[in-house]
Amino acid sequence: MSKNIEPIYRQIKDRNPGETEFHQAVREVLESLGPVLVRHPEFAELKIIERVSEPERQIIFRVPWQDDRGEIRINRGFRVEFNSALGVYKGGLRFHPSVNLGIIKFLGFEQVFKNALTCQPIGGAKGGSDFDPKGKSDNEIMRFCQSFMTELYRHLGEHTDVPAGDIGVGGRELGYLFGQYKRITNRYESTVLTGKGVHWGGSRVRTEATGYGAVYFVREMLKIRRQSLEGKICVVSGSGNVAIYTMEKLGKLGARVIACSDSNGVIVDEKGIDLDLVKRLKEVERRRIADYANYHKDAKYLAGGNIWKIPCQIAMPSATQNEISGDDARQLVNNGCIVVGEGANMPTTREGVKVFFDAGIAYGPSKAVNAGGVATSALEMQQNASRDSWSFEFTERKLDEIMTNIHARTHETAEEYGAPGNYVVGANVTAFIRVANAMVALGCI
Ligand code: GLU
Repeated sequence: MSKNIEPIYRQIKDRNPGETEFHQAVREVLESLGPVLVRHPEFAELKIIERVSEPERQIIFRVPWQDDRGEIRINRGFRVEFNSALGVYKGGLRFHPSVNLGIIKFLGFEQVFKNALTCQPIGGAKGGSDFDPKGKSDNEIMRFCQSFMTELYRHLGEHTDVPAGDIGVGGRELGYLFGQYKRITNRYESTVLTGKGVHWGGSRVRTEATGYGAVYFVREMLKIRRQSLEGKICVVSGSGNVAIYTMEKLGKLGARVIACSDSNGVIVDEKGIDLDLVKRLKEVERRRIADYANYHKDAKYLAGGNIWKIPCQIAMPSATQNEISGDDARQLVNNGCIVVGEGANMPTTREGVKVFFDAGIAYGPSKAVNAGGVATSALEMQQNASRDSWSFEFTERKLDEIMTNIHARTHETAEEYGAPGNYVVGANVTAFIRVANAMVALGCI
């Protein structure tokens, strides 16, 4: 980190004690910014780094709800509206027991820059709750979502803040959230949430977008190295929305995915993961990935296993933050991995990232690689605003263009800033300059 930025980072750490993931995300961006301040002294003078690291607004609220036995339960809800220099607050909601303010701040901070990379008019935010959807009945999920929205609705609006899904929040939850918003406000405001069902205002391709977009980015990373996805052996961690559609697009572009996982264990199927089965188990029946082995006798289930030990050429972490440690990264490199494309948000630890750079493999950081989800959310907002509904092919083409563009711009910027092939520098610098320029233009607000 450059000398003039170090004290700023120290101050951010001191002001946000214990928020380790937030510190990690801020540090990674700040480490890229030294040369930017040399070219743009006005950013330092106007305290852009200090301002961009402080959320514009942080909302924390109580979410009481009743379980099926009639017992009252209390969870905590969050919405961190991080930055609105480029557009409305935009970013998902995460329901997971690990959620706390630090996690939501790291995700919100990342979202600001990710959204800037899409070149669409969206600022950054994130929200969620420490509610654990696992093992809850449909009715419990609905009552929780209704209670959550009963507080959140007052902070939302087409021109203010537009949430979407993330871990633990998919079509079902967004439906219950939107239903409650509509009931409280007496307004059918499609534009207030994205990721909606296609038959009630959603966009085609939104479900697939994060995974498909991540694969397009990896395709571009390979193209620049004069390689393709054809015949490549891939490992994709997770088995949620991002993982499923990453596997689908990898398969369509000729690669072979041999392993995926959930928080209990890993499935290895050398013949190639049977995606229809994963979809049925995870999307329809909401079961564990262990059950896969009951249908494919030659697939192996590794209870509590580490997916990064499975040799592959392409690794696409698509589960959660910090899932690749330094040792995992070393293992991947030693096993011949040549490309890492992050579908999850910040899935690689600092040490892991260093291992990838030292080994000289192609490493695509999440804020660039997984921007396709939020980019398609912005396309959903565009369709809602014009009361239009685009075809799958047209929407997918737009997504492909956006991802190809993000790749090209991050790659060029890395070169321009003396770090060829370094997508971390490329993404951080490109996104920061875009946000910073807007903040300068809008004055000291
Ligand atoms: N949660 C997703 C992300 O991490 C999508 C956010 C959105 O569509 O607003 O980017």
